[in-house]
Amino acid sequence: MESIWRLSKMYEVPMESILEANRLRPGEPIQIGQKLIIPNTRGFRNVIPLYPNAEWKYVVVHHTATDIGNATLIHNSHHDRGFWYGLGYHFLIDNGTLGKGDGQIEASPRWIKQQQGAHCKANGMNAAGIGVALVGNFSLEQPTVAQLQSLVYLVQTLCKYYHIPPSHVLRHRDVQGSKTECPGSLFHWHSFLNDLARK
Ligand SMILES: [Zn+2]
Repeated sequence: MESIWRLSKMYEVPMESILEANRLRPGEPIQIGQKLIIPNTRGFRNVIPLYPNAEWKYVVVHHTATDIGNATLIHNSHHDRGFWYGLGYHFLIDNGTLGKGDGQIEASPRWIKQQQGAHCKANGMNAAGIGVALVGNFSLEQPTVAQLQSLVYLVQTLCKYYHIPPSHVLRHRDVQGSKTECPGSLFHWHSFLNDLARK
């Protein structure tokens, strides 16, 4: 029971839900090595892996310019377009399509390996910038509320850990030398910056 309690705290899931998902009676002992299912009402849990790395000085925000997507699909399309090592971004924020949650944050293999990005050649941003992309085409529609909330959470977490000032959080289009509308004219950047400044 002690460990169910601890799991409950760790995953912010009620103890009853864990018991129920695993068909355990309250007080029933769990065996060492027993695999437990941790249910999650949201269907996913946003965990942001962080690695010490002094190179990250900027966050660059993109849209994928596609209606639907998840990391695997976009990895493959980047691969086809000749980006090296597949998915060019470090993080992807899903919009609830292709089996991913609305607002789900996916860390790419590139991030796990702490490799440079392939998201913005202008002004050396592939080397200094953490590339974050929201799934969607914000020239045609707005990001979802859940995507924006996750973006605030992700960017706040990254800025805090890597000591990145708010002035170094940029849209792709704001990067000097870039010629793009990315992340789209319907992305309300200033209201995002306001949310970001709020703790
Ligand atoms: Zn972009």
